[in-house]
Amino acid sequence: MNILVCIKQVPDTKIIKVNPKTNTLDRSSAPAILNPYDAHAVEEAVRLKEIHGGKVTVLSMGPPQAKEAIKKCVEIGADEGYLISDRRFAGADTLATSYALFKAIEKLMKLEGIDLVLCGKHAIDGDTGQVGPGIARRMVIPPLTNVIKVEEVDLTGQKIVVRRKIEDGYEQIQSTLPCLLTIEKEINEVAYSPLPNMLRAARYSPIVWTVDDLDDVDIKQLGLKGSPTIVGKMWPPEKSDGAEMIAGNAKEQTKEVLNILLEKRELFEVKGGGK
Ligand code: FAD
Repeated sequence: MNILVCIKQVPDTKIIKVNPKTNTLDRSSAPAILNPYDAHAVEEAVRLKEIHGGKVTVLSMGPPQAKEAIKKCVEIGADEGYLISDRRFAGADTLATSYALFKAIEKLMKLEGIDLVLCGKHAIDGDTGQVGPGIARRMVIPPLTNVIKVEEVDLTGQKIVVRRKIEDGYEQIQSTLPCLLTIEKEINEVAYSPLPNMLRAARYSPIVWTVDDLDDVDIKQLGLKGSPTIVGKMWPPEKSDGAEMIAGNAKEQTKEVLNILLEKRELFEVKGGGK
């Protein structure tokens, strides 16, 4: 069973700062990490390979530093890693990103065949969750999103059954293979990497492809040129002012809470006249 996992190197969004002048992410303010959802996708691919045999390949689009994220996947247990990296990919929105990844997947399919494509549920920086379904649309394969469990894989019948998270519970879905899954964190625990994997990762050099290594690429669909998205505005998320402890007995505390609510009543005004 050949499984391809798309992985993205992202800034650690728990630490990153926003430049107040330009309103853009100051990527130098945070270390680059493997997108956490993608780590779970790689772990799941390795688990499926252990059961069904085959190979786990990871693919990323990004700058040369993204090799580090690929090496992290080798540590988790991936067999091979490809990075597509070229200035002509730069400035890509989700449409252009899914096109570039699709062209690389097309080439990998010719080289070794792919039964299953995995992506994270979303990337913690861009956060759109569009790239996985975008790739599936281009590959003309079913996208099964928000997967929390792979229930069954039938390679002879070319079928897969998964459990996916929905708003008020979960649903079980059967699909034909190949298909694309987007992976939720609940699917597994990313285990500590065994020493042989760590040693292999330390020595591993991912395979790097430029645009010229891909077949029949429409340059107009790549990078900034192929990106119709316009970012209208960007601002850091507002943090709450924190909690306030109110002293006194229950009666005094209730009185104080009421006073605070009355002071801040304009915050609760409903537009259109009601309160
Ligand atoms: P999601 O759709 O949330 O990601 C879901 C999953 O898709 C991930 O878990 C992963 O499995 C897969 N995936 C996503 N991205 C990649 C990838 N690159 N490689 C492999 N797998 C992937 N970002 C930059 O880093 N550099 C830029 O120059 C840049 N320019 C931009 C210009 C514009 C106009 C816009 C709108 C965005 C730009 N971005 C840039 C952000 C970029 O569009 C997104 O980060 C990227 O398209 C992925 O979208 P996302 O982060 O929402 O991923």
